[in-house]
Parts: sequence; structure tokens; C-alpha cells
Amino acid sequence: MHVLVIEDDDAIAEPLARGLERQGWTVRRESTGLDALAALDTAPPVALVLLDLGLPDIDGYEVCRRVRARSNVPIIVLTARGDEIDRVLGLELGADDYVVKPFGFRELVARMNAVLRRTTGASTSADDTIHLAGGVVVDTRTRRVTVADTEVVLTRKEFDLLALLGSDPGATFTRESILEQVWDAHWYGPTKTLDVHIAALRKKLGDPSVIETVRGVGFRARRSDDTAS
Ligand code: CA
Repeated sequence: MHVLVIEDDDAIAEPLARGLERQGWTVRRESTGLDALAALDTAPPVALVLLDLGLPDIDGYEVCRRVRARSNVPIIVLTARGDEIDRVLGLELGADDYVVKPFGFRELVARMNAVLRRTTGASTSADDTIHLAGGVVVDTRTRRVTVADTEVVLTRKEFDLLALLGSDPGATFTRESILEQVWDAHWYGPTKTLDVHIAALRKKLGDPSVIETVRGVGFRARRSDDTAS
């Protein structure tokens, strides 16, 4: 699916585009409102628009209004200020949701999925449950994790980390990509944080081998042995 990212700040747009591409999106990027409106008129159609309000030519409100005049494509507004939200979500503009900068990548992806579910009526129920080794079951919809049918309480980051690794069992996620996707699009902190969370997660899941270390690269989740792929 194609997503149109309308954002003039490269420091935000570039890591965002990389992260979205890793999640399977085809990203089209524009840094002015007028270019973005022109892009919307050219094939292929976009499934979702991410719109920064502070653009160098016409502002995001005007872009939102003009997009709505011609299309029902879902719009998520990226705003720097919480007090703009009422205007953004107002009927006049018709945005579907918003995130306040600075936002975490996982948060944005969750909003994107929610908006797509709402606007397309697509059911994701079949994809909500992840079965991993050691009897670990991750429900990404309710954000609950069970081990052998007993619920395990995880912190928000521990859950996001497990859900990310579980999104493609057997695939190795690099340390950089994990930090970028679970922590923030702009995470430049100590990578020791990741090891601490992995260790905590392994302990809570009971079976340390559920999450395998790929030396010098990153980590991967082990698929349930009795679940067909
Ligand atoms: Ca801007």
C-alpha cells in the first residue's frame, strides 16, 4: 500500500519513511502542500496520508481541506502542538486522527492501523494473535501476553519489543531497527537499554530461548514448533 508523507522536515521524514518501508509500505514523500496535492492526483492511489501542519507554502489546514474536497483518503495529522487538535479533527477539516510531535514510531503505526481498520472496515483479527515457542501467545489487539494460558504482565516497551519480533518470527531484526521502531524514530541513546529489556522479557516469558540472540546483529523470536507457517 502507498502512504503519502507530507513533511518538510527531513530529520522527521527520512527515518519515518525508512521505518514505514520496513513495515511494507510504499512511501511517497512531498515537502510542500502544493506538491502533495499534485501527487495525490497522480497514480498510484495512496491508502493513507500523513500530514504535517507546518509546511513552507500553504499550511496543513488548507492541504487537509483541499484533500477532503476531492477524496476520502484517511488523513493522520502530525502536529507540534496539542492545542491544534480540536481544529484538526473538526468537521471542517476532516482529518481522521493525529499524533503530537515528538511521537514514537510504534505509536504512529498503531494509529495508522486503527485508522485503516475504521475507514476500510478491514478485519485484522486473523493477524492479531502471534504464536511463539515456549507456549507464548501475543495478542496485539488487546496487548496481552500469555505463557501456557497464564497471563504475563509486560511493560509497554517490553510488549512493543515482543510484538515487533513476533511480527515476523524467525526473521532477525537488527539492533538499530529495533531501537528505531520500539523506542523512537529519533533514538540515539545507549543501546544497552535494548539488552536490559531483552533480559527482562526472557525472564518474564520463562523460556529464554523464545528470543534468540543473533550475535553482532540483533534478535529474533522463535516460532512455535507446532504452528504451521
Ligand atoms: Ca514542518
